[in-house]
Amino acid sequence: MSLVVKFWGVRGSLPASMLPTGWRAHLQMLMKQFFTTGHSSLADVETYLNSLDLPLVGGYGTGTTCVEINSPKTRILIDGGSGIRSFSEKVMAGHAGSVKGPFHIFMTHFHWDHLMGLPFFSPHFVTNSEIHYYGVQKDLEEVIRAVFKKPFFPVPFQTLPSNIHFHILEPRKTLKIGDLEVTPYQLDHPDPCWGYKVVHKKFAYAHCVDTESTRVSAEELGPDLPLYQGIDLMYFDAQYTFPELAEKANWGHSAAQIGLDLAFRENIKHVLFAHHDPGATIAQIQDLKTQTAEYFQWRIDHAAESDEKISKVLWDFVHEGLEVRIG
Ligand SMILES: [Zn+2]
Ligand SMILES: [Zn+2]
Repeated sequence: MSLVVKFWGVRGSLPASMLPTGWRAHLQMLMKQFFTTGHSSLADVETYLNSLDLPLVGGYGTGTTCVEINSPKTRILIDGGSGIRSFSEKVMAGHAGSVKGPFHIFMTHFHWDHLMGLPFFSPHFVTNSEIHYYGVQKDLEEVIRAVFKKPFFPVPFQTLPSNIHFHILEPRKTLKIGDLEVTPYQLDHPDPCWGYKVVHKKFAYAHCVDTESTRVSAEELGPDLPLYQGIDLMYFDAQYTFPELAEKANWGHSAAQIGLDLAFRENIKHVLFAHHDPGATIAQIQDLKTQTAEYFQWRIDHAAESDEKISKVLWDFVHEGLEVRIG
């Protein structure tokens, strides 16, 4: 009776990988470390690789935002960034032509990185497969149709053989799909952007990407505060370092320290930081992790000194392909 969340795309703004020269330098660093940590034989390779966090070996991923959420009876997706291609390959594998869905795709907003993968979602091309799009934005259907428009994509929307339905959501009103409850809340992002709270029984996931999180206090958040309350896992926008927030005001993205503060205050159990900058290398994301760990420790020490009670928070920076079970 749990929720399973899988992250198919975790980059922000644009799909991006390190340059070949960057990968070469990374490989050189790993090989040097292999020998300097006492390993020497072929048999040690597996042991050595297993001792490292997966992103330290293979990076954080290249695809842009796409998250899959499964309850025992229902599956939804949030956003169709380039990461949706990998999800599509998984559902199509061995079932080409017989994948009927239904697929439920909730859109946060329509910036390129959140919809560029949609034409590569293969169930669109399967006769009578059932696809439902959801969004608060009134122009949801118009925008999704435009993604398939020539000359941007060679197959026009009106020729797709699947059955595609559009559902406009009311802000902050819960929609029941199977055994899931999904509620849109507004984030702090241009154009605008809607986060989602997804609940199954006593388990809750909060999708908070893209957001600058300029509203932090309970008073400022007002009707959007419930997005952060009673949450087991929060997916939070941490594209920038804390000092970068000032230079990049109004760009619509946040930093891990802001997410941690929200998590401490609202008793959020687990936070995954995401929307990695397209230019961020493995080393730069590791750097962000170090800065976040320092802030995390400072918050705990500060709370201990001032007798402030703060909740226990588990956190990390997400990588593509990560799967998290809630409950
Ligand atoms: Zn984005
Ligand atoms: Zn955006």
